[in-house]
Amino acid sequence: MITVRSVSKSFGNIDAVKNVSFTIDKGEIFGILGPNGAGKSTIVNILNTLVKADKGDVIIDGVNTKNDGDTLKLMMGVVPQEIALYEELSAYENMMFWGGLYNIPKPELKMNVNKTLEIVDLVNRKNDRIKTFSGGMKRRVNIACALLHNPRILVLDEPTVGVDPQNRNHIFEVIERLNNEGMTIIYTTHYMEEAERFCDKIAIIDVGRIIAQGTLKELREISDVRDLLTIKLADVNSETINRLTSENPLLRFDNASGSLKVECGNINNDIQIIMNHVQNAGGVIERIYTQGTNLESIYLKLTGKELRD
Ligand code: ADP
Repeated sequence: MITVRSVSKSFGNIDAVKNVSFTIDKGEIFGILGPNGAGKSTIVNILNTLVKADKGDVIIDGVNTKNDGDTLKLMMGVVPQEIALYEELSAYENMMFWGGLYNIPKPELKMNVNKTLEIVDLVNRKNDRIKTFSGGMKRRVNIACALLHNPRILVLDEPTVGVDPQNRNHIFEVIERLNNEGMTIIYTTHYMEEAERFCDKIAIIDVGRIIAQGTLKELREISDVRDLLTIKLADVNSETINRLTSENPLLRFDNASGSLKVECGNINNDIQIIMNHVQNAGGVIERIYTQGTNLESIYLKLTGKELRD
């Protein structure tokens, strides 16, 4: 449905986006994950034709954004990072204003405003002024504004930054509901747990480049990050430790924590075998900790750095 092919964009001597390519299928939630300044907003702005790429093409449903930006704007709803609402107007008035920019006939627009207010669960606040809303509620109105023209693709640029957990959950539910109804979603974030929670495919981006992309399973394979099993021994006996580590080179002993550590392909399959091995060699197990592969460990392995800033 969406093909981004070798797209680059510089601002002066800053290469904001470098040779980025990806494809998104209809009905997918595509996550663009990266730290601040990685180039996520620039990619979003190129997709919605606010920013013109220096090189490359964006093709949506067979239409090149270079040739027909107006048609594409109707296909796409964009929720920008900044809250674009009039504080003195009510939620309803703001939405009527934004919807009016799409030339939607008034009766249809009124219906859409009510429908989208229901989607973001703000019907009972529709006549209150925006200035009385919390940050999270304003973001929900922003999402509703992006849905007024019935787009088939929704782009959300870091929609949960600075949002409290309750509103955050609400935003997740809205996204999941829209996606279940068939909406294709592009979601930028620097929160790994969000990308992990609902993105079908994730592109990991760092200083303007895509470092890796795919499903979580594919990213796990690309990065070759393994599950980690830590076994704390009740009695650290050097003879037992030497026997264990020489018999099984995958086991290493961490002096600082007094624990054996082993990386496994699949912790569920390997845990019993490793425990038997330790116990047969005379090791007394006090505790076991398991750490499965997650996006955080994949990201760290691929970029060599923590994402959180
Ligand atoms: P992100 O959304 O991942 O935080 P951005 O796409 O906003 O990243 O920015 C990528 C890089 O491009 C940053 O170094 C940023 O300072 C720069 N940049 C973005 N927009 C502009 C602009 N309009 N003018 C100059 N530099 C910009």
